[in-house]
Amino acid sequence: CGIVGYVGERNSLDVLMGGLRRLEYRGYDSAGVAVVDGSGDIETAKRAGKLQVLADELDRHPIRPGGTGIGHTRWATHGGPTDRNAHPHLGDEGRLALIHNGIIENFAELKDGLLAEGFSFESETDTEVAAVLLGRLYGETGDLREAFRRTVSQLEGAFTLLAVHKDEPGVVVGARRNSPLVIGLGDGENFLGSDVAAFVEYTKRAVAIGQDQIVAITAEGVTVTDFDGAVVEVEPFDVAWDA
Ligand code: GLU
Repeated sequence: CGIVGYVGERNSLDVLMGGLRRLEYRGYDSAGVAVVDGSGDIETAKRAGKLQVLADELDRHPIRPGGTGIGHTRWATHGGPTDRNAHPHLGDEGRLALIHNGIIENFAELKDGLLAEGFSFESETDTEVAAVLLGRLYGETGDLREAFRRTVSQLEGAFTLLAVHKDEPGVVVGARRNSPLVIGLGDGENFLGSDVAAFVEYTKRAVAIGQDQIVAITAEGVTVTDFDGAVVEVEPFDVAWDA
């Protein structure tokens, strides 16, 4: 129900947890994060329950700080609210992490195809098919943006999706269909959120991603394309926010 992404100089975990707290009002049953550090290690933590349960887990078992990360609060639709079904979900043998708000309507047929190819699944979610498919296509392309574009082109339903891969440590890719996604433009850092509340503490300059568009953010810039890869001009606006 809430999505946050970050690339920059800060410890992304602080940005993710702060953003998820400001999205808490939307309701959720589980929460999780994935952080990539400069040396390309990826670590995830996820828990059913309130954000505080995840925060306590992170206190007990800290993950390495890193400048690239994604954070998620889940409102379960497919698979109960368990630790295992919480996001992020992994693909490419744990080298990538993906989060999702919405419902992937054609997940069952995609899952059948991936199972027939020998891929295995850890959860009961619709989301995990996107993570496993992205891993498969990353294996074919070696390019996160291209693999992500091909992945989302195969999905039906409603989705805001973000993904990170350890081999491309300074990038977060995102896509949206029938579900919101907004970019926050910073100076040497950039943000993604399901809502401007996710990043308004850091920047008031934003870009709303259009229907069926893909975004890639790095510390230095943002690129938006359609699902065919054609570049889309972005129109920044200033967030009106009294806080
Ligand atoms: N359909 C996904 C799940 O059940 C995402 C739910 C959400 O929007 O948080 O895990």
